[in-house]
Amino acid sequence: MHITQQAREELEAHVGAILEQIGIGEENGTKETPRRFVDYLLEYRQELDINGILGKKFPAKDTHNLVAQSDIPFRMVCEHHLLPALGRAYIGYVPGKFLVGLSKLTRLVQAVGVERPSLQEHICDRIANIIDTHLEPKGAIVVIKAEHGCMACRGINTPGVTTVTSSVRGIFRDVAHARSEFFSLISL
Ligand SMILES: [Zn+2]
Repeated sequence: MHITQQAREELEAHVGAILEQIGIGEENGTKETPRRFVDYLLEYRQELDINGILGKKFPAKDTHNLVAQSDIPFRMVCEHHLLPALGRAYIGYVPGKFLVGLSKLTRLVQAVGVERPSLQEHICDRIANIIDTHLEPKGAIVVIKAEHGCMACRGINTPGVTTVTSSVRGIFRDVAHARSEFFSLISL
């Protein structure tokens, strides 16, 4: 996200005031921390250009073939704690109207993850909705598996827990066989 120099200075001053208040504002090591923290927040506030990401769409021939993609690197920041969650995403769709290049599914996961601080559940739904709306497939399924910083290093303080979410559309919602075919093709 692009912000003005004045907005940046204000943000850095706010973060600096927080550090000051908790007694770590004066140290050399934290001098640049306000700037770094603002950069971090802005990195997770990026415009989502859906058409640019999906690129050229190709008409799908009449097919029932399942396209599945595994182990897509996933990162996000949670809107409750502004802490990162890292993991993998898995996408499947059965083309209906359009196909897209394979790299586009990976690009989509990466871009939705940095659109804004959010929840894994919402991001999973958003990716499925975009595929459903823009490709008009017979079905779409998105699974995200991630470890959340806000569980690992605060609150319950338990590293190593993975949260799995899924969003299903079309035949993946209606036909159990389609779902099981997808899960047999990916390794969660
Ligand atoms: Zn959180």
